[in-house]
Amino acid sequence: MSASELQPVIGLEIHAQLATESKIFCGCANSYGQPPNSVTCPVCLGLPGALPVLNEAAVRLAAQVIVAFGGMVAERSAFARKNYFYPDLPKGYQITQYDRPLGTGGEVAYVDEDGDWRCCRLQRVHLEEDAGKLLHDATHKTKVDYNRCGAPLAEIVTEPELASPQAAASVVRSIRQALRYLDVCEGDMEKGQLRCDANISIRRPDGTLSANRTEVKNLNSFKAIERALQREMERQRGLVAAGETVEQATLYYDERSGEVGTMRTKEQAPDYRYFPEPDIPELVVDERWLWEVTQDLPLLPRDRERQMSRLFGIRDYDCRVLCAERVLANYAERVMERARDSQAAANWLSNVLLAEVEIGRGELDPIGIPPDYIAHLVDAVTAGEVSNAGARQVLAEMLSASRSGRRVESPERVIDRLRLAVIDSEEELLRVVETVIEAHPEQVALYRRGKAALFTFFVGQVMAATKGRADVQLTRRLLEQRLNEEEK
Ligand code: ADP
Ligand code: MG
Ligand code: ZN
Repeated sequence: MSASELQPVIGLEIHAQLATESKIFCGCANSYGQPPNSVTCPVCLGLPGALPVLNEAAVRLAAQVIVAFGGMVAERSAFARKNYFYPDLPKGYQITQYDRPLGTGGEVAYVDEDGDWRCCRLQRVHLEEDAGKLLHDATHKTKVDYNRCGAPLAEIVTEPELASPQAAASVVRSIRQALRYLDVCEGDMEKGQLRCDANISIRRPDGTLSANRTEVKNLNSFKAIERALQREMERQRGLVAAGETVEQATLYYDERSGEVGTMRTKEQAPDYRYFPEPDIPELVVDERWLWEVTQDLPLLPRDRERQMSRLFGIRDYDCRVLCAERVLANYAERVMERARDSQAAANWLSNVLLAEVEIGRGELDPIGIPPDYIAHLVDAVTAGEVSNAGARQVLAEMLSASRSGRRVESPERVIDRLRLAVIDSEEELLRVVETVIEAHPEQVALYRRGKAALFTFFVGQVMAATKGRADVQLTRRLLEQRLNEEEK
């Protein structure tokens, strides 16, 4: 049995911080970047006697996630205590959902290595509270910040059915995109808003599974997910091919060295001693409430791409690019509705606008330029009224106005003010052509003696004299006429 015949089997557990105003069981603000330990109270610090109260907003956002992925929201679910001792958890236990989760089933559409959509089924989606954060400083002391304690998390658990590290990363990318579409989580992995644990084992060619799986904890970027799983897959393949057993273990990934190491083995695994949370009643989801909070869910990227393709007939590739973020898809559709040529508008949005604006990264969100302005600008390029370079200048001008809070002028006005309109008046261009010919008698003589390659030199001179505004076709025609005339 060679290692390459051994397929990985991967299942993911993804923790997403829900963007609620307050924490999941208390009134503390759910906000990032506050001074350490400034957003805490007896409940989230787990002081004796403090009682948790479930935040309806957290249930609402989790329910939206479940329904958007096509899962079932349980009418009745329950919270449990997961007991473990660690300094980031002052209570000594985490409130989570165990055997009665809020959501079961559903699936996530993701893009496979060939660029096609595939589905990965979900096992469950449950609610839980986040723990605090340990800060290890240079003096080898560790400090703890409890602000994150009690932040609401949705844990999304996939079935073990992903067959490559790339597919695993793609699923996480899709989940992140979907959560952003739904406005339930910004998905900033650097800030820890989205975190992933990956479980992996090996399937032999006869279909049987290796005895044990390992779990790589806390993968905080797409690159980390891919690299860590690649490493671990190779290690397990090696062992299984040699007839050895993979030991069940929890692993960590060291971003800097790219190595995967053992955090603890099965013997060291904690016994969480789950038991029902006595301070929180059974969670009963009202049918009417569920219908109200999930009736207006947006289409997720795969369906949004299909809709865009159907409505505007643009290339699949452009649909993919323009549907990466919901705000971008909304904007792009409004531009394409107004532009004369949808595909030209799509090209311009993906190649020019997206090179300047990182939509969805908070910089310009929404863009601040009315969509019809972009549509008019694209129309002007398509109609040859302004060159591509000129249009980029117009865009830069509009962006700078929008970024500095000035009023954004229409592209027509910017084209006028910056004198960017293409010169297509024969009379006006002829004057330029003549000036150029007079200024270069030697080149003219050489050209007329047969050095045809000099033609582009003259075109360049006309372009330089008009700062790129000369209509190229007309310039070529006029130059040809004048240069090929008999010497007077
Ligand atoms: P636990 O309760 O120990 O966390 P679960 O059955 O809930 O175990 O599974 C947790 C995660 O492990 C899920 O993402 C699931 O897809 C994954 N998983 C389960 N079995 C395997 C396996 N044989 N190989 C890889 N991943 C697996
Ligand atoms: Mg687990
Ligand atoms: Zn609190």
